[in-house]
Amino acid sequence: MRARTLEPPRAPARAPARAPARDVAARAGRGRFVVGGNWKCHGSRASVRTLIEELNAGTLKDVDVVVAPPFLYLDDAMATLKAPYEVAAQNCWVEPGLVDPTHRYDSETGAFTGEVSAEMLEDLRIPWVILGHSERRSLFGESNEFVGKKVAHARYHGLSVIVCVGETLEERESGKTMDVIFSQLKAVATEIDDKEHSSWGSQVVIAYEPIWAIGTGKVATPEQVQDVHAKIRQWLADNVSEEVALATRIQYGGSVNATNCSELARLSDIDGFLVGGASLKGEDFVKICNTSAVHYKAIGRKPRDDSVVTFSFDEDGELIDTK
Ligand code: PEP
Repeated sequence: MRARTLEPPRAPARAPARAPARDVAARAGRGRFVVGGNWKCHGSRASVRTLIEELNAGTLKDVDVVVAPPFLYLDDAMATLKAPYEVAAQNCWVEPGLVDPTHRYDSETGAFTGEVSAEMLEDLRIPWVILGHSERRSLFGESNEFVGKKVAHARYHGLSVIVCVGETLEERESGKTMDVIFSQLKAVATEIDDKEHSSWGSQVVIAYEPIWAIGTGKVATPEQVQDVHAKIRQWLADNVSEEVALATRIQYGGSVNATNCSELARLSDIDGFLVGGASLKGEDFVKICNTSAVHYKAIGRKPRDDSVVTFSFDEDGELIDTK
């Protein structure tokens, strides 16, 4: 893979105190706005049912929406959520030490007490899985490589993936934000940029979640978000392909709520949000989802109907199929 040198963005000579962040973008994605609700380890059967009723009462337009209940409530959510809501698991298993040159990491059912495999999610027709959330990385010691394997394995089983990347406050303050994120992306690209089975496209969503903004009420500024998103897209263009860079949806996550979502949705490289706390309030979450309209208006284009775009590669890594 080609290495890129990144220089810190230079402020224009007469920049206003808060420059319109969308000017930072070199290119914007073409994907449909996608919002995820990460319910984490919250709720009870009763509260999940109430939340689902609130979500079903909302009206959604031109947006893909994925909610991730705890495993035990996935079945209930699948049975009761109305379209266009889709459901995600918050994690799935792959054996960390397993080496698989085919990048499939298959046969992952077995003696792994307490785990849930991608095969099982596929069996229950759970369409999405969130992988590499910072809480999994920090609390459960998931390395970049481990997350990359999980993504490959989940994709092999046909799951769409939201893969989370992001830096700690310390890493940001020491100027390492993009190094950290590029390492996380590289571990994914190494595994899923595989000739036999892998496919990027709209089924791999990248969620940029600065760890210092998760659950803290501290939101990254629009400038910080746009800057990182544009660099992630550039990284995909340089290291995977231009097509994948344009098709990949990049979400922002970190204290997004019904009040701050509109300002962020205007950014050209924000293709949606991954929402924690505010996704537990049905009405607020529906409002956040519907900032898709704000986004399309700000970037001056209509949403695409063909929301699923898949890329496959031949043995030489050349793009052979787009559907
Ligand atoms: C998250 O955990 O993915 C998240 C973004 O949480 P919050 O919205 O609560 O910051």
